[in-house]
Amino acid sequence: QLSKRLARVGELVPEQSRLADIGSDHAYLPVALVLQKKLDFAVAGEVVNGPFEAAKKQVKKNGLNDQITVRLADGLDAVEETDKITAVTICGMGGVLIRDILEAGWKNQRLQGNERLVLQPNIGEKPLRDWLTVHGYTIIDEDILEENNKIYEIIVACRQEVRVAYSEKERLFGPILLKKRSSIFQRKWQGEVKQRETILAQLAKASGDQQARIQQIEKEITEIKEVLSNES
Ligand code: SAM
Repeated sequence: QLSKRLARVGELVPEQSRLADIGSDHAYLPVALVLQKKLDFAVAGEVVNGPFEAAKKQVKKNGLNDQITVRLADGLDAVEETDKITAVTICGMGGVLIRDILEAGWKNQRLQGNERLVLQPNIGEKPLRDWLTVHGYTIIDEDILEENNKIYEIIVACRQEVRVAYSEKERLFGPILLKKRSSIFQRKWQGEVKQRETILAQLAKASGDQQARIQQIEKEITEIKEVLSNES
């Protein structure tokens, strides 16, 4: 039984993809998708020995050794040309780490640029969207969900003929999430306002010149409040 978060990621993986799940931990996602018969080929990549062993065990236990290859490798080094990967999932990590994995894969050409990316950053969505934008990706879908009192975003991207230039605001809030403005989205950003207000209160008591930081945070609060009040 997949978590709600991973189940949603799985729904966003196209049918019959050849999937690379990077940072697969127990390989729960590829195992579930192959058992559902949504896929019949996947690579599960792990850089840490414990989760790598756990992934191998999980695949073997389910009798999926022929469909799922588990590799001990850093990021997209788990992918080989002969795998003919068409979709990549990178989930449950910070957005900056996901970005760094994509960047390394881009540089050493493990990432071809024609794969569908389904990314689920726990935090740091903005730097990840910045990277996608710079590298010519279009964000074709996004979702936001809540599980165990945590809010997660999912970003689906691929490269298309026409490049989209996302604004700073779209890269912060998510171009599609911004349009949908779901109740979970509102709750997330209300929380972000609160966090920033707490920081402002602390900065007001701090010594030294905090003016630049205060102004930056005030600007962010105004921007978030604008989005929340639907004025933009
Ligand atoms: N993807 C699963 C999920 O969403 O539930 C597991 C998430 S777990 C919190 C993150 C996993 O990513 C860990 O098992 C960690 O070892 C792995 N990881 C971190 N950096 C990695 C890298 N550079 N390459 C491959 N795996 C990595």
